[in-house]
Amino acid sequence: MKQILYLQPVLRERLWGGTRLSEFRYSLPSDHVGECWGVSAYPDSCCVVKNGIYAGRRLDDLWREEPALFGRTEDTQDFPLLIKIIDAHDDLSIQVHPDDEYARIHENGACGKTECWYVLDAEPGATIVIGHHAKNKAELAQMIRDGRFRDLIREVPVKAGDFFQIEPGTVHAIKAGTIVLETQESSDVTYRLYDYDRLQNGHKRPLHIEQSIDVIRTPFEPKEIRPVTCSMPAAKLTKYFDCRFYTVYKLDVDGSADVPLSGMFHTMSVIEGEGYLDGSRVEKGDHLVLAADYGSMHAVGRFTAIVTRV
Ligand code: ZN
Repeated sequence: MKQILYLQPVLRERLWGGTRLSEFRYSLPSDHVGECWGVSAYPDSCCVVKNGIYAGRRLDDLWREEPALFGRTEDTQDFPLLIKIIDAHDDLSIQVHPDDEYARIHENGACGKTECWYVLDAEPGATIVIGHHAKNKAELAQMIRDGRFRDLIREVPVKAGDFFQIEPGTVHAIKAGTIVLETQESSDVTYRLYDYDRLQNGHKRPLHIEQSIDVIRTPFEPKEIRPVTCSMPAAKLTKYFDCRFYTVYKLDVDGSADVPLSGMFHTMSVIEGEGYLDGSRVEKGDHLVLAADYGSMHAVGRFTAIVTRV
């Protein structure tokens, strides 16, 4: 079924957001836009289809009512992915997500969150937080209770093209000057560990210290990323990471290429350039769903996209 759904992204204003999402051709409601939810069936920020026979339909409704479009099997409940572009004009709070089991018990049956970042741009000297330096739970709890966050967190340099997998229980934060494309389980359960003592409307935002201590895994072990590139005429497909929630690829097209897409639906977020997919125009900032059993995709032009499948 050669069906391409173009999604209308949902923009979210954030304390730490900026204006750089305009580089993806979005018209911003303010100078504090932090997130573009490009592929989302999350209830209060659900994308709507822009084109074709499904124009005006919400992604969550389509997922329920048109299972064949997605290759959905009976046992999958909610749309499984959430894909965002994040512009960190300022530092994001340092946070951690629970795993599915902890979230089910402590968050009313919600999902945990596994996520990953593909770095789209980073200013010289930019860093991110991933992991911590505590040797065990007792040391972790002590450092947190003593407020020794600067000693606790593990901060690493970051540049465009880097990829990070963030398992549940991993302390993490995107810091100022970085734009990432984030692929994650469709969930919003976040425990805030440290917010740099910032004020929002005169108040500090609430922290979730006890939950954070519960779910942070010790010691931290960095996840090794080994991208594997498969070259084909006029295109390259690089697989970054594979886990039980998603597989994330980068597709580079330069010319006229045929790319096989089989199985369940794929999502595609165009991060650079422009071209055509089976005659449909695509440009930087587009977020698409390619229907299940798409078959061979004919791609023409010069563009780069992050492609995800479940
Ligand atoms: Zn997160």
